[in-house]
Amino acid sequence: MNTKKELEHSPKTAWEVYASQEERQAMHELAERYMQFISHCKTEWETVAEAEKMLRNAGFGDDYASGMVVRTFKGKTLFAVRRGRRPLAEGFRLIAAHADSPRVDFKQHPLYEDAAVAQAKTHYYGGLRKYQWFSIPLALHGHVVKESGETIPLVLGERDDEPVFAIADLLPHLAQKQVTQKLSEAFPAEKMNIILGHQPLDKTGNDEEIKNPIKQHVLRLLDERFGIREEDLYSAEIHAVPAGPARYVGLDKAMIGGYGQDDRVCVFLGLEALIEQAGVGGVPEYTQCLIIWDKEEIGSEGATGAKSRFFEYCVEDMLVHWEPATRLSKVMLASKAISADVHGAFDPDYQDLHEKLNSAFLGSGPTFTKFTGSRGKYEANDAHPAYIAWLRQILNKAGVPWQMAELGKVDLGGGGTVAMYLGNYGMDVIDCGPSMLAMHSPFELTSVADIYASSRAFKVFFEN
Ligand SMILES: [Zn+2]
Repeated sequence: MNTKKELEHSPKTAWEVYASQEERQAMHELAERYMQFISHCKTEWETVAEAEKMLRNAGFGDDYASGMVVRTFKGKTLFAVRRGRRPLAEGFRLIAAHADSPRVDFKQHPLYEDAAVAQAKTHYYGGLRKYQWFSIPLALHGHVVKESGETIPLVLGERDDEPVFAIADLLPHLAQKQVTQKLSEAFPAEKMNIILGHQPLDKTGNDEEIKNPIKQHVLRLLDERFGIREEDLYSAEIHAVPAGPARYVGLDKAMIGGYGQDDRVCVFLGLEALIEQAGVGGVPEYTQCLIIWDKEEIGSEGATGAKSRFFEYCVEDMLVHWEPATRLSKVMLASKAISADVHGAFDPDYQDLHEKLNSAFLGSGPTFTKFTGSRGKYEANDAHPAYIAWLRQILNKAGVPWQMAELGKVDLGGGGTVAMYLGNYGMDVIDCGPSMLAMHSPFELTSVADIYASSRAFKVFFEN
């Protein structure tokens, strides 16, 4: 018979579990590596490029015979695999994360000048709260493809000696009408125009009148720095993201503040888990896969999102090289996956929106979400109890703290992840990742203890 203490579930926080000096040091070393990563990878293509570099440095390549393969598609999605001892017919272990984050994109015909400034028209990407993007320093990240096919990467506003950009907010003196408007109406998307310049192009000796001299000056500077002209912007993707690096938050440096932690925290932890993973003689028991997707924030559509066939093609290719007689369906049905994504933490200032018993708390380890979706579990993957029992067993055995939660009170909102697209294959899948405050804001907040515990959890998942 269970004792009274055993009957009631009383989990420990990640701070309690990882309390030794060595563990606290490892926690902060991980936090430092992670902050470096998210400070430099602010778009899906920057993330995929860095991830590929890290994997290739660790011995992943193009040759299936080596058992360690990495491949990318359109520079925005990445698949990596480490072959295990057991046949693929017994399934693989998969961690799936997404590299895109909410941001403000340039329109294809962005540049104009009006009222003494040159600005760029924008169309925001993903579920952001528009007001958070006014009056903060922005950097531009993107790439421009010229008619010749040459791709010009563009990053402006991250180095100390570079200027930043901004969307100017309205002064309070003239905001009397705006402050009484509904939030959804007070910040029209067409006012999210990014200031690019102010100084007119100087006339030279025999110049006639210069039309749009400020815009002309901006074009001149873009040409000098990147060799691009206005028409090149049609075949470009330029994103405005918060400028500057990730930082510790709090006197105790126990939290990390930074842009794009949803979901690059899981990208980074998944990458490290795959790279550091080694079984007997460097070969794990089960084949380990990592997929990094794009477009999760806008519905997982397109060639590089979770609804695309890319992942399936990668598994097919694995089978052709390693196990040609095994059917794809057999592998998919036998596999186990973690939809590695962040979760909204219980917010001290908005407690009324959460249901405390089923909320994720900062510092209590990675959050498992049996189902996402909204209003009656619509559009949710619903992880099977047998799979959750297996995960409980492996994590408890390894002493990794974890928690189970759902997002907010029932009927107050909700959200989706890529879990359901993996569930469609019949594989076991559940959402799991660190919880955070201020999700989808320019400065998202995570706990260094959760990041460490999530890193442990991903490794334990790969190993079992
Ligand atoms: Zn996400």
